Amino acid sequence: MDLTDIVADIVAYIAAQEDRGTVASYIPELASVDPAGFGIAIVTADGAMVAGGDADAGFSIQSISKVFALTLALGKAGDQLWERVGREPSGNAFNSIVQLEQERGIPRNPFINAGAIVVSDVNLGGHQPRVAIGEMLRFLRYLTGDDSIAINEAVAASETATGFRNIALANYMRAFGNIHHPVELVLGTYFHQCAIEMNCRQLALAGRFLMLDGRHPDEGRVVSPSRARRINALMLTCGHYDASGDFAFRVGIPGKSGVGGGILAIVPGRASIAVWSPGLNENGNSRLGTLALERLAQRTGWSVFSPAGDSADQ
Ligand code: GLU
Repeated sequence: MDLTDIVADIVAYIAAQEDRGTVASYIPELASVDPAGFGIAIVTADGAMVAGGDADAGFSIQSISKVFALTLALGKAGDQLWERVGREPSGNAFNSIVQLEQERGIPRNPFINAGAIVVSDVNLGGHQPRVAIGEMLRFLRYLTGDDSIAINEAVAASETATGFRNIALANYMRAFGNIHHPVELVLGTYFHQCAIEMNCRQLALAGRFLMLDGRHPDEGRVVSPSRARRINALMLTCGHYDASGDFAFRVGIPGKSGVGGGILAIVPGRASIAVWSPGLNENGNSRLGTLALERLAQRTGWSVFSPAGDSADQ
């Protein structure tokens, strides 16, 4: 199996697709992104990087940030976090409010917006948003070894100005006592974390600790093996909102999507993969990014359900 050939094949396959999905427009600043873009980067366990397409193009990581925010929050709160946020797929849209009433302000999982807002509340830890955001940026720079990772302030401002649903979610949870800081500080943290900009290469590097059972290849342990496995389990079951089952069925590896069109996907012990294409499907997940990962899984045989792990079936 030659990964370089497979990546070249995927880039050509994606270039031939006519339906590129629909770029998210509910965050005005994201609406102007060109839907033609597609990038892919794969870091393998031996440290090799194979990339193709627009792998150096920066994009808004949006909800992919929820993986890194969860990692930080678990470091602060440990398993007590699970008293404030669940671990079940929601079966609802990423920004749904209906479940919250029935479940008394405890969001289903940390990867829907409500759950990520609780995670931001934990990460705030009595500080100002800039402290929590600084910590998140330092974490991503440490994971990637790349100090250029930064926030796109225009995207953050755009979300702050129009994030009415997230404001409603945060206030609603505060009414149940599940948000402890002032709502505007929690949302300031959340919106800025979503507005972090990265490219596919950087994102694949950031995911290495989840590929390597919690270890950074150069810096040592980031989280325990069991924590890395649990984060991967949540990505598999909850990483694509109400299409998480479909993603697990089609791709078969843990993945977390964002409305900026990125997806981070992890093949434990083998690869950390980032894809990006800004057009989304009806569930708010990158249409072509998902298609690219489906093809990659077919071509490599990578799957968390595969006993051999790398027996390609094409
Ligand atoms: N910042 C986005 C929001 O809160 C994140 C959604 C996503 O990427 O799925 O609406």
